[in-house]
Amino acid sequence: MHLAELLESSGCPLCRTRLREARRHLGSVLYESVNDPAFRDRLLAARGFCRAHSQQLLAANRAGAGGSLGAAILFGSVIRKRLAELKKVADGRGRPMDRDLELARRPASCPTCEQVESAQASAVSRLLDRTSDEHWRLALAAAELCLDDLLLLAAAADRRSGRWSEVFGAQIGRVEGIAARLEGFAYNSSYDRLHLMTDAERRASDEAAVLLGGTVSEAQAR
Ligand SMILES: [Zn+2]
Ligand SMILES: [Zn+2]
Repeated sequence: MHLAELLESSGCPLCRTRLREARRHLGSVLYESVNDPAFRDRLLAARGFCRAHSQQLLAANRAGAGGSLGAAILFGSVIRKRLAELKKVADGRGRPMDRDLELARRPASCPTCEQVESAQASAVSRLLDRTSDEHWRLALAAAELCLDDLLLLAAAADRRSGRWSEVFGAQIGRVEGIAARLEGFAYNSSYDRLHLMTDAERRASDEAAVLLGGTVSEAQAR
């Protein structure tokens, strides 16, 4: 994915990286791996997709030309496996320290999450590498990063470097601006001050939701 595209669209660039990588991976699973025995074995060993990617797999299948057949085949084999785990729990009849219950409750080792994590790690290191260039540094300083991803970059950055301090300082200024606009919105919401409210104050809650909750859909990121 091109960094320019990442930094120039609205919303959090790292959230967008994860959304796009998940879409790309689920698409490739649907169109290349449904009948691939090696992938099917790996999926069973992983015990399926995580909750979010299970939902997105079906949505991706329906959005493409495939109806829901690919998702149905993969879900069917995962559910057979999870059903066997449920039956073991039922057979255990609530023994103390029920190991079967613990095993059944483990989240799936989602193969899409694995891809998303590696795309995220590469985006983080590319974004930080490019801070040596002023153009990229300014773009990152102004990006609408969510709070978690700002801190993810801070954790990976060389915090003694002046380049990162410049980005981090600008991002803190951006967060301060959001706080001030939210307060302005609340203050100007009374009847006698409505005419003083600015468009920036009206948009502040949307900015705050991305800051605190991340960019959650690609539509939101456009
Ligand atoms: Zn984010
Ligand atoms: Zn997942």
